[in-house]
Parts: sequence; structure tokens; C-alpha cells
Amino acid sequence: MQTEPAQAWKIAEGLALTAAGIAALGGALTYAALSAGSQLFGSTLIAGNDPTEAALTFDDGPNDNATPALLDLLAAHNVRATFFMLGKFVRRRPELARRVHAAGHLIGNHTETHPWLHYQRARVIREELRSCNQALEDTLGAPVGYFRPPHGARRPAVLRIAAELGLTTVQWNVMALDWLPIGTERILANIERGLVRARNRGKGANILLHDGGDRALGADRSATVVATAALLTRWAHDGTHAVTVDAWG
Ligand SMILES: [Zn+2]
Repeated sequence: MQTEPAQAWKIAEGLALTAAGIAALGGALTYAALSAGSQLFGSTLIAGNDPTEAALTFDDGPNDNATPALLDLLAAHNVRATFFMLGKFVRRRPELARRVHAAGHLIGNHTETHPWLHYQRARVIREELRSCNQALEDTLGAPVGYFRPPHGARRPAVLRIAAELGLTTVQWNVMALDWLPIGTERILANIERGLVRARNRGKGANILLHDGGDRALGADRSATVVATAALLTRWAHDGTHAVTVDAWG
């Protein structure tokens, strides 16, 4: 599923562009690097073609303040979710990472320290991915197959290096914006809007949520936990099938 990255990056570097051309192309490249849906720099895994499927994905953990509560909720509803963890937190909370794994959830790589990867040299990108893989594999005793770039930021080198490490790069198509202090109601409204849009496109929903905060352990994600509880209660009745992202690739 990895395709040859488009040549846009090289074109941008190699052409002598007018100022207007640089501005236009720069905008396109910024979009390609930062938009979760852009495939310009190579294909990434987003969602499958069954609009009844939805994946809850939680980034930036593990986090004592939210991950255990989410595990209890998910267990109560017999639902598996996907957790993209930071190596630096896995090293400090290995027992919590193992709990997530033992409960049958999918765990992916979210880098060691959460940098903006599209600004980084290849050596740094490789080290960030390799180091997080190491933390996860040492802790879980299982290989890691999926990777989500922090902020969704990428460039051809990010996708290439991820592929070299055997990682499928995963984006999302539904943003809860739960890293902002907006409260449960608005988180749920954002998710609902995204679910409808994905469904109208005949796609499953890959929902970006956060059980942690990248700066420090202990982030308050109580609004995310409450929103997740509401979603799971609804999904138990409305025909939505919860999946983990490996169901799509
Ligand atoms: Zn993140």
C-alpha cells in the first residue's frame, strides 16, 4: 500500500520559481505535509470502505489520568481501540502500556518525543521512530506495525523511513479537537460532524482523540473520557462497528 511519493518536494527544491509560483506551491506543499487527508507525499492508511465502521484512536499516552478509565469503558462495551503511544511515556509507565496490550487493543508508534517531523532531518526522524519502536517492543514483547506522525505532519522522508522500519503510516478523517479545552459537548459535536462526512463519502471513520498530552504525563483528558463513554453507549445501539485501524490495512 506504500506508493512512490510524488515528486512535488523535489520539484519545489529544483525549480526556479517566480515569487507567486513559490507561494502557490508552498501552500500546496504545506497542505500535503499537514493535511491528514492529503496523499500527495505518498499513501497513508485512513479508513476502509465500510461506512458502518469506526475506529477510536487515542494519541499521546499512556497517561494515568485517562488511559485506565478508557480501558474500563472499552472493556465494559467489549470494544477494541487503537493507542498511538509516545516512547518517553511508555518508558515511564510500562505497566500501563502492558495493560492496554493485554486488553487486546492495538498499540502504535507516535514517536519518542513528539516533534514536528516535517522539519526534521532523516537521521532525527529515524531515531524518533526507532526509539519508540524499541520502547514498545521491549515493554510489550510484540512487534509494532503502525505509526501516526505527531500533528499528522510528514514529508516523503517520514513515510519512507516508516516503511523501512516496517510501519504503516496512519492518519485520520475525524477530528475531535479534544486537545483544546472545549468540553465534552463540542468534542461530541465535532465527532458527529466528522462521522456524517465520512459516512457520506462511503468511508469508515478514523477518529482522532487523545488520552494524553505530549508535554507531560498527567494531562487532564476527562472531557475525552466522557465523550468516549457517550459514543460507546450510542454505538451499542446504532449499528456502528468499532474496529482497530489494522482492520483497514
Ligand atoms: Zn500526538
